[in-house]
Amino acid sequence: MANPLPKVPVVIVGMGWAGGIIAAELAKAGIKVVGLERGKKRSTEDYFMVHDELRYAQRYEMMQDLSKETITFRNTEKARALPMRTYGSFLIGDGLGGAGVHWNGQTYRFLPYDFQIKSMTVDRYGAGKIPEGMQIQDWGITYDELEPYFDKFEKTAGISGEKDTHPNAPSGQATIRRGR
Ligand SMILES: Cc1cc2nc3c(=O)[nH]c(=O)nc-3n(C[C@H](O)[C@H](O)[C@H](O)COP(=O)(O)OP(=O)(O)OC[C@H]3O[C@@H](n4cnc5c(N)ncnc54)[C@H](O)[C@@H]3O)c2cc1C
Repeated sequence: MANPLPKVPVVIVGMGWAGGIIAAELAKAGIKVVGLERGKKRSTEDYFMVHDELRYAQRYEMMQDLSKETITFRNTEKARALPMRTYGSFLIGDGLGGAGVHWNGQTYRFLPYDFQIKSMTVDRYGAGKIPEGMQIQDWGITYDELEPYFDKFEKTAGISGEKDTHPNAPSGQATIRRGR
């Protein structure tokens, strides 16, 4: 029988990066939030072992169990979507923290140009540079507007590095890419 719990203003289903960040921001704003996570909680102690390749790399211990609940996938618009029974490179996280628990930590910042490809191309080379029918657009948001959030995420995710490894890092700020 269902066990009714006290009502709260916000319930978030899934505690990965997205759900976790939203929950944290709402809580900081004084809003009571409950996060529901289908997978288990893991702590540092769970990793005190010799790397278990069978468990993690072959049996995908940290990913959604496709034998219990799968997703459907199609390669073209007209193809029939079929259930995925085995994983390819697209892996779905499971457990508190979601895929962020085992991601690679590569968080490259986009460049100002990436957000304003159209207007910056026109400014520099003229409207004639864009071929007729080419559907490029600016994002509607600029690098400068997003920069505080890049900074905030890097601090949240504990990403470290040298400021001169990134051309857009604000001066005096250590931001970075960590990766392989
Ligand atoms: C191996 C790997 C490496 C990666 N490396 C990078 C990288 O280097 N850089 C980068 O930017 N991105 C990387 N990514 C992608 C990045 O990790 C994901 O895009 C990000 O973690 C997604 O966050 P999310 O909160 O949207 O979803 P998820 O992390 O998938 O979180 C969703 C959560 O919801 C839970 N959930 C789902 N359904 C339910 C339900 N019905 N009830 C309750 N809970 C539910 C799941 O268990 C999961 O915890 C990587 C991903 C993988 C798999």
